[in-house]
Amino acid sequence: MSLSDKEVLNIFTKTEALLSGHFLLTSGRHSDKYFQCAKVLQYPNYTEQICSNIAEYFRDFEIDTVIAPAMGGIIVGNEVARQLGKHSIFTEREDKVMTLRRGFSLEPGEKVLVCEDVVTTGGSVFEVIEIVKSLSAEVVGVGFIVDRSNGKVNFGYPQKSTLTVEVISYPPDDCPLCKENKISLVKPGSRKAEK
Ligand code: ZN
Repeated sequence: MSLSDKEVLNIFTKTEALLSGHFLLTSGRHSDKYFQCAKVLQYPNYTEQICSNIAEYFRDFEIDTVIAPAMGGIIVGNEVARQLGKHSIFTEREDKVMTLRRGFSLEPGEKVLVCEDVVTTGGSVFEVIEIVKSLSAEVVGVGFIVDRSNGKVNFGYPQKSTLTVEVISYPPDDCPLCKENKISLVKPGSRKAEK
C-alpha cells in the first residue's frame, strides 16, 4: 500500500520533520521552512509507511542488493530492503572519500538499488553510483524520501521520491521575514528563539 502525497506530508508535519516559520539554517541563511528527515525516521512505523512508496515502485524491478550512503540513507535502505526481501549495505566516508567498508562488497553484474533520505544536489547518491559502477555492478534505480531539488535532480536511472519540497532561503540581510518582523527567528534543534 502506497501513501498519497497528502498522507506523506501529514507524517512529516506530525513528526515536526517539516516546520513552517522563520528559521536560521546551518548555512547562516534564513528560511520560512525547515526540514529534518531524521525526525520522521526516528519512528519505525512511519519509516515503514513512507518507505513503502519506494519499495512498491521498485517491487517488479530485478534487484539483488540495496545500497545507501551513511548516515542518512542507512535507515531508508534497510527498510526498503526489508520490504523487498533483499539485503542492504551502506557506503561511508573515509578521509572524505565515499567507500564500501566493513566487508561489504558487490559482485560484477549485481543489480543494485540506491537509497537515500534527502537529496538536494544528489552528491552522495552520485558517489554511490560511481562505486557501484567501479565494481562492475549495475544500478537499477534510485529511491529517496525527499527531493529538495524541486524535481530538478536526475540520476539517469529510474528514480522515486516520496515528497518534493523546495526550501527557499535568503541571506540574513535580505530576508523578507526579518523585514516583516512578525515571526522571531528560530534556530531549529535549539528550541531557543533568537533575535
Ligand atoms: Zn530572517
